[in-house]
Amino acid sequence: MGRIYLDYAATTPTHPEVVKAMLPHFTDAFGNPSSIHSYGQEAKGAIEEARTKVAALIGARDEEIVFTSGGTEADNFALKGVAFANEPKGNHIITSCIEHHAVLETCKFLERRGFRITYLPVDEYGLVDPSDVKKAITNKTILISVMHANNEVGTIEPIAEIGGIAREAGIYFHTDAVQTVGHIPVDVNELEVDLLSMSAHKLYGPRGVGALYIRKGTKLLPFMHGGEQERRRRASTENVPGIVGFGKAVELAQQEMSQETKRLAYLRDQLIKGLLKRIDHTRLNGHPIMRLPDNVNISVDYVEGESMLLNLDLEGICASTGSACSSSSLEPSHVLLAMGFSHEQAHGSLRFSLGKWTTEEEIERVLDALPGIVAKLRAMSPLLKNP
Ligand code: PLP
Repeated sequence: MGRIYLDYAATTPTHPEVVKAMLPHFTDAFGNPSSIHSYGQEAKGAIEEARTKVAALIGARDEEIVFTSGGTEADNFALKGVAFANEPKGNHIITSCIEHHAVLETCKFLERRGFRITYLPVDEYGLVDPSDVKKAITNKTILISVMHANNEVGTIEPIAEIGGIAREAGIYFHTDAVQTVGHIPVDVNELEVDLLSMSAHKLYGPRGVGALYIRKGTKLLPFMHGGEQERRRRASTENVPGIVGFGKAVELAQQEMSQETKRLAYLRDQLIKGLLKRIDHTRLNGHPIMRLPDNVNISVDYVEGESMLLNLDLEGICASTGSACSSSSLEPSHVLLAMGFSHEQAHGSLRFSLGKWTTEEEIERVLDALPGIVAKLRAMSPLLKNP
């Protein structure tokens, strides 16, 4: 029996069409886009083509897209770039407790540099309340950053509403859309965002490339200083194969999104229903409706997520306890804690993230395997006093 990959939110396999599009840029078309000869111009053309595709997917203009080394850099760029450029206006930033570490750690860094950060709470489903955003605004607020969808529990945040509040108050608004771009419709004008982070490896593109959308007129400092690449906003010779791969991945996502969203949501619901029915003392984490089509996150009482994960792995099923970066640490998920879970509850969570190659048979295999694993672990569990 082959292995089953259900950790697409950590990273996706690179689509064969994407690899095919990238290959010539390692060999024949290897030019430096800044060179004025034909090799350079060929590479530059390929980058601009990719930029047009990325911009079109999110309703942006080409010149509003800056390619980066991934989602983490895009988040760092947005937060530090706006913070340092707008310091004379104010030093207050609003974000949420459930952001990815790429945002939270950047906020902590900015705090050490004298910025004041408000970390908004979330409700039991992981939702930020837009009225809390409104209340947190002061005359020193220069930036609001709330993620589009949470990578652990899949909750989709009310970004358009928060965008409206930010726009009315004249405050820049950033969203980390790493988990949504290419998966659900994202339009920077409908969402009223000024900055938006993306990452190619979450949508069947290569790892190590992403982009930041920067609305025209947004005041921010360049992320890297050096050459004049990316309209002087991000120096360094461009990762041409990566950017081309990102463009191809975006093109495929645009063609397949509406079909794929429906197919995945169906499989997601099968998995959720099956797990809650076949294993007692389980709960769905995250919002039941405002939820990514590919995310299943459940809590299983009296067992540890890591133990379930290792046992699933022995049966060839690869899942996660939460985000890829925290799954190797034994700290409970900051997202589940913010949603009001106890440490014990937060340790008993499991995330399955579905994708392009997930089949109904694979979902069935998980539904067959997990109840037995849980029963075995519970039989040994010191957490279970009275079953
Ligand atoms: N933001 C979110 C919501 C993510 O899920 C991730 C990746 O897990 C990142 C940012 C970081 O993206 P990258 O791995 O491209 O740096």
